[in-house]
Amino acid sequence: MTTSTTGRHQVVVIGSGFGGLFGTKALRRSDVDVTMVAKTTHHLFQPLLYQVATGILSEGEIAPPTREVLSGQKNAQVLLGEVTDIDLAAQTVTSHVLGRETVVPYDSLIVAAGAGQSYFGNDHFSEFAPGMKSIDDALELRGRIFGAFEMAELGAQRGDNVDHLLTFVVVGAGPTGVEMAGQIAELAHRTLRRDFRAINTRSARVILVDAAPQVLPPFGAKLGANAQKGLEDLGVEVMLGAMVTDVDERGLTVKYKDGSTERINAVTKIWAAGVQASPLGKILAEQTGAPLDRAGRIGVNPDLTLPGYPEVFVVGDMIALDNLPGVAQVAIQGAKYAAKSIDGRLRGKPVTKPFKYFDKGSMATISRFRAVALVGKIRLTGFVAWLMWLAVHLFYITGFKNRVTAVLHWLVSFLGRGRSERTATEQQIFGRNALARLRRGATDLVSEPGEFDAALEAERRAALEEQAAEEVRLTDEGVRGSRIAQSRVNA
Ligand SMILES: Cc1cc2nc3c(=O)[nH]c(=O)nc-3n(C[C@H](O)[C@H](O)[C@H](O)COP(=O)(O)OP(=O)(O)OC[C@H]3O[C@@H](n4cnc5c(N)ncnc54)[C@H](O)[C@@H]3O)c2cc1C
Repeated sequence: MTTSTTGRHQVVVIGSGFGGLFGTKALRRSDVDVTMVAKTTHHLFQPLLYQVATGILSEGEIAPPTREVLSGQKNAQVLLGEVTDIDLAAQTVTSHVLGRETVVPYDSLIVAAGAGQSYFGNDHFSEFAPGMKSIDDALELRGRIFGAFEMAELGAQRGDNVDHLLTFVVVGAGPTGVEMAGQIAELAHRTLRRDFRAINTRSARVILVDAAPQVLPPFGAKLGANAQKGLEDLGVEVMLGAMVTDVDERGLTVKYKDGSTERINAVTKIWAAGVQASPLGKILAEQTGAPLDRAGRIGVNPDLTLPGYPEVFVVGDMIALDNLPGVAQVAIQGAKYAAKSIDGRLRGKPVTKPFKYFDKGSMATISRFRAVALVGKIRLTGFVAWLMWLAVHLFYITGFKNRVTAVLHWLVSFLGRGRSERTATEQQIFGRNALARLRRGATDLVSEPGEFDAALEAERRAALEEQAAEEVRLTDEGVRGSRIAQSRVNA
């Protein structure tokens, strides 16, 4: 168990996303110690994940190390770990990383663990259709997308039919799906068109599938139709009213409202369809009796606290309150409100007003220079909306240096036709599924805490030292060179 040395009020924040980071920062002037526990070492700007997946931005630009971001905040510390339990009675948070357990006590708690991908009960789809929730996801998708063009080139040179390799299906016509489909189409039609010899990348099919009758439902019918037209102008095939019923390595099956089905052969599938709140919501619901909705979001009091536990706040994608959407501003504003409440209580000036969300609007890009935006009752489309998208995203990217490099990469991709971040590795593509085959994931690859074998380490060290000494001898005595020379003579 970690203990406080300052005797100050201890705030634990779970998560380093929008809620976690903004909540922690909002407590920087408060008379508290803040411990942020998160399962990644970075803060993640999820709205730009699709640009990492399609080679526009690097992962570092949208995922700065939380430790660096908070390095100047003296009352905050960061702990790596996946929270596995919250004990509301004992007021402790338990986390694990690679078999190591940490228990942190709290006086106040802010839970901001967000949401994961939902496959609507078909989790096995994930093997072949990665989601878009993490840096791992985006890099895997980058590898799969660029890799599909490579495999198509090889196949075409052999004279094979490569249509299934040049077909890309994005499932889910929300902002993420629309942005992803638009960018893959731009890749195929603009960026890559001169790079291959055996295939014509412009013949690639990009299909956007959704069970809903329109794209971008929360934006309303008009902007949805505008976005659909923009995608179709780019060459994206939009299939609406089509529910995905099966996914395998080679493709997927969709079912229409009239009961008919269609098979689409496509090696690259991207799942951008649904969200499921963090399982920590269930742990909290079991201890408080608070309701959970179908997406696993927990019902909270109007002041974002849990029923019966005024010291515990839940914010962001995890909450079900007044039909608030799962967007960054709900998490940011909720976390700031929670921080203000904690600070107010300590100062004897408790916040009495319930949490009120201020909707600053929403937007989605379709292609370079084209977006849709909804701000209050104002609907914007085309270049104006795109400029607005640019300004807002630039403002919210964390860190000055990330802003500068993001602008440079955007110049490369939007004014030019290049992509600065096309590098992909085999590990990016196959690492997730390989780890899933291990019983305990990455934990299987490291020793148990306390199991360190000093004798074995001494043995290994001696062997390494012996090897190094032999290397030095070979070089110093000129043996290495003469041996090579000798072998050349023999050859
Ligand atoms: C691809 C994509 C595009 C999006 N685009 C937009 C957009 O354009 N505009 C917009 O407003 N919103 C957008 N969103 C939604 C927005 O990103 C979320 O609403 C927002 O991130 C929610 O903030 P949060 O703090 O609740 O959760 P998150 O930001 O998801 O943060 C959750 C944090 O908790 C950590 N965590 C999770 N479980 C545990 C655990 N058990 N233990 C420890 N740590 C844990 C995670 O690692 C992460 O650090 C998008 C989301 C995605 C996925």
